[in-house]
Amino acid sequence: MPTIDLTDGFDYHEYREQLKLIEETRDAAHLENRADLVCPACGRPFEAILVTTARTRSLSGINGPFCLARTAEQVLVLTHSE
Ligand SMILES: [Zn+2]
Repeated sequence: MPTIDLTDGFDYHEYREQLKLIEETRDAAHLENRADLVCPACGRPFEAILVTTARTRSLSGINGPFCLARTAEQVLVLTHSE
């Protein structure tokens, strides 16, 4: 199963086939995993991913376990169903 590559930052446009864009704002994007992409933190498939370049961000509606990952300029929140 392919893992998201964070080596040179995360560019979700490289995962056009696997990730479905749910919402996009100036400094954040929320995407649904419609393939079996694997979380870079725990190695399990994730449900959705939020990626942001914002310095601060409040989140609501996240249920269940989630993982964090970061690149030089981004924070990624990956949610899991269990
Ligand atoms: Zn994870």
